[in-house]
Order: sequence, then structure tokens, then C-alpha cells
Amino acid sequence: MATRDDILVIGLGRFGRALAETLLSLGHEVMAVDADAQACQECSQTIGHVVQADATSTDALRQVGAGEFRTAVVAIGNDIQASIMATYALVDLGIPRIWAKAITAQHGAILQRVGAHRVVFPERDMGVRVAHTMLGRTIDYVELDDEFVLIETTVPRQLAGRMIGEAQVRSKFDVSILCVKRPGGRFTYATQDTLLNLGDLVVVFGPTRSAEEFAALD
Ligand code: ATP
Repeated sequence: MATRDDILVIGLGRFGRALAETLLSLGHEVMAVDADAQACQECSQTIGHVVQADATSTDALRQVGAGEFRTAVVAIGNDIQASIMATYALVDLGIPRIWAKAITAQHGAILQRVGAHRVVFPERDMGVRVAHTMLGRTIDYVELDDEFVLIETTVPRQLAGRMIGEAQVRSKFDVSILCVKRPGGRFTYATQDTLLNLGDLVVVFGPTRSAEEFAALD
């Protein structure tokens, strides 16, 4: 019987496999379902609990015990019909937390209408992230919602040799520096007394525009 933390992953494409393997590495139990025998075979070593079934059928899902799960992810993208039908089958089974991957905004809107609780757009989001990391001094970029981001960047030249408090980072740039990493060191929490050196990495949090401007400073 599935427990509260077990996660059902439907579809073992690149996204589904990476998701299932990461959940396993984080200590969760995973059951993966795919209609394709070869995909199941390829994942049986790494994922372990893999079941071959057609996830568009509520009965087939019920038979493999999918109804016991409290969290499920529909990781089917390109076959939009299968993605929608699998999401609907999970809703039919009464699964309380359903995540689904969408490849277009319209696909996402339909998944939401059908009953997905959270829709993700991996291709779109990764495009946004890669575009930002190509610009300025941004090393990594995570959108927290429509208005706030976390950016990993380097210390701008104009702040080098100054302490965070003294440089008035929050009031002048409208961002918070959360942590700092010296070359070869590890990230440590930043305080008002943390000295910023050229070559240090910082993680800043703030409104999107402010954080992007901070990462673009000379
Ligand atoms: P990725 O980009 O993650 O590689 P994708 O969107 O290109 O995935 P899809 O073809 O949409 O890949 O399907 C992902 C997986 O979902 C495939 O392994 C496919 O066999 C599986 N799948 C498709 N339809 C069903 C279904 N009805 N039931 C179960 N699994 C399915």
C-alpha cells in the first residue's frame, strides 16, 4: 500500500525518468507507469518499481494500485491526448495532488480544467532560465513566481571590498544577498558584516527587475 510520501510517475520519457530518479535519490518511494515495454525495461534497473500499463485507462491504473497514491505526476508531453486522458484518469481515482507537464499554454490550460492541481512547463521554463544565464553575470536563475527571482551571480566590481550593510545593498539595489561563496569555498549565510570580494559568488533574492539589474551591474 502506498504511503503519503510515495509518488506515482506516469510516463518515462526524459522528463519522467529524471523526475523519478531524483525523487528516489531524495528518499521517496516511486512507482512508475509507462505503456511502452522498452521504456519500462530501460528503467527497471534505475527506478525499480516500474509497471507497464495504459495510463489513459482508469481501470488499468486502478489495477496497478495507482488509486492508493496521494501524489502523482503526469510526465507525458508530446502525446497531448494521452496526457489529458491520464490526468483525467487520476482525477477519476481521486488522487489529491496531481502534477502534470504541459508543452504549450493551451495544453496547460486544458490540464488545469481537467483537474491537475499544478501544471509545469519544463521546456518553456528552461528556455527562460538559459536565456538569463547567457546575459550579464548571471550564473543561475530561478523564477519563484511572476514577480520574484533568485539569481546566482558574481560580486559586481562597484561592491568589491565593501560590507553588505555598508554598501546598503537592500536599500540601493532593492535586493537581498542571501549567501556568499568565496573561490574554492562553500556558500555561507550572508550578514550585514559580510565582506564582498571580487570573484565571490552571491545568491540574491528580489523583485525580478531589481535582481536582473543587480546581476547586470559592472
Ligand atoms: P520527454 O520530453 O520527457 O522525453 P516526451 O514528451 O517527448 O517526453 P512522450 O512521447 O510524450 O515523451 O511520452 C513520454 C513517455 O510517456 C513515453 O515513454 C511514453 O511511452 C509514455 N506514454 C505515452 N502515452 C502513454 C500512456 N497512455 N500510458 C502510459 N505511458 C504513456
